[in-house]
Amino acid sequence: MHGGHRAAALGEPLHPGPVLSSTFALGRPADPLPTDFYGRAGNPTWRALEDAIGELDGGECVLFASGMAAVGAVLRLAARDGALVLPADGYYLARSLAHGELAPLGVEVREAPTPGPWPVDGAALVVVETPSNPGLDVADIAAAAAAAHAAGALLAVDNTTATPLGQRPLELGADLVIASDTKALAGHGDVVLGHVSTRDPALAAALRESRSRGGAVPGPMEAWLAHRGLGTLDLRLSRQAENARALAEALLGHPGVTDVRWPGLPGDPAHAVAARQMRRWNGVLRFTLPSEAAVGRFLGASRLVGSATSFGGLRSTADRRARWGDAVAPGLLRFSAGCEDPADLVADVMSALPDDTTTADGAVRRG
Ligand SMILES: *Cc1c(COP(=O)(O)O)cnc(C)c1O
Repeated sequence: MHGGHRAAALGEPLHPGPVLSSTFALGRPADPLPTDFYGRAGNPTWRALEDAIGELDGGECVLFASGMAAVGAVLRLAARDGALVLPADGYYLARSLAHGELAPLGVEVREAPTPGPWPVDGAALVVVETPSNPGLDVADIAAAAAAAHAAGALLAVDNTTATPLGQRPLELGADLVIASDTKALAGHGDVVLGHVSTRDPALAAALRESRSRGGAVPGPMEAWLAHRGLGTLDLRLSRQAENARALAEALLGHPGVTDVRWPGLPGDPAHAVAARQMRRWNGVLRFTLPSEAAVGRFLGASRLVGSATSFGGLRSTADRRARWGDAVAPGLLRFSAGCEDPADLVADVMSALPDDTTTADGAVRRG
């Protein structure tokens, strides 16, 4: 709530707006180069958000124009020194970037399941995503860090689903935290943004240079909106997690629903590791309906659940991941529990699930 906000001097705005200027006063030739001189290299509105996120992550934060810009910067930086190990069941575009752009340049790309083991021999970078999107599996960050470091590799953790309030990977031994702040951190579905945090000043400087050279920089307005969203992250996560728990518990008892995963459930296979390393739960869960048609009926009948990709917003949404090419069942939904009233949301979801659920082979299962 307070991170990145300076105390205002007499008469200064308590809530300053974004600094939109692309260029800044350079003074006389003998004057030193000021911190801000050109909008692609730096901006006070970015810096305020970087201070806030860096404080939460426990490192130095470098803002990027999107989560993928952050992933790309890290992969390109580390790929110079050895193989890349990526999660086989994590965000699909990270794999697509590695296979599509880095492998043709000669980089060896390996995939590993989220819980490990990680093939680290000769690796320069190991990436884990925890909880993973959309599988909601969990990696033991300290174990991944130990494995990566034993092989001389860096560990990067995609912390998007957890957020900096939910998990502090740098404290658990990670060298880099990557996140899409498009999701719960900005939290209102109106911003695309990402960041990388690290405790290594040389890595942070290299990432800033890469951002400046690459040129795909965040807009000050997006940074400002995300900073405003960050102030309510704790409140939103707490309601979203309350909703996710209530939904997961209700869904477990529904005959037409299988494969319910939410790491906060004591019975979840990933619960023990997640509970050890996470500080807060969040609103992202997954479950599977028998078919694509059953997903269609569910989304058509619900009044509160939007059909949309992305997650972490105020309003609940569900996304059928097979449509994006994830290697999952056709009826798997990644569900983003929003901030609706818990009783309303559970009642809406449970009444929208058909009790006659047609299975993938066309048979009808009576619920
Ligand atoms: C969305 C997402 C990304 C990509 O972020 P964008 O902001 O959409 O570019 C990366 N990793 C994970 C886990 C994500 O959910």
